[in-house]
Amino acid sequence: MKDYLIAFVITFLGSMAAAWLSAALARWANKRFPLLAQSCSSDPAQAFPKAWCLRTAAWGIFLAWGCIVALVSFLILASVGVVSNSHFLDSLGIATFAIFLSTSALSITIASIIRCTKCKRHLLSQWTEHPPFAEKTKLGVDAWAAIVLRAGMNQNFQCMYCGQHFLMKPEVLQSPANA
Ligand SMILES: [Zn+2]
Repeated sequence: MKDYLIAFVITFLGSMAAAWLSAALARWANKRFPLLAQSCSSDPAQAFPKAWCLRTAAWGIFLAWGCIVALVSFLILASVGVVSNSHFLDSLGIATFAIFLSTSALSITIASIIRCTKCKRHLLSQWTEHPPFAEKTKLGVDAWAAIVLRAGMNQNFQCMYCGQHFLMKPEVLQSPANA
């Protein structure tokens, strides 16, 4: 098997282990930090202060998801033997893997900084199994992934912990129609 594919399989298994660990941590956090009594769902919508930062993280996560799909496809193509030019596939695989690593690192770094301005909880890290204001999109994704989708597409979103509504386009607030 190609080196980069082995590296990808190791990274993939590592992230599975990390996901299991974070689920265990979330269960622990559920007991340790009960849900907030506060609800801001009926408060007026606010412009999200670091919209560009959130958008960058969302795009980084989109790219990382795309790279996972691409690498799995390469793995299938290489094992089936569909592609004859393996040198080209190798270079493509290494490049994709490098993009996957860098976008993941960037997104994780930004996710650790971005917090809700009301409840101060991390918007892109899900610390409880059932956040009270988790939204579900038409694509079937919910909670933090729904925030990623909405923010990435410049749509308004809601904090999954306290329900505060945020605007990704603050100019909407200043337009005469909404004044
Ligand atoms: Zn909040």
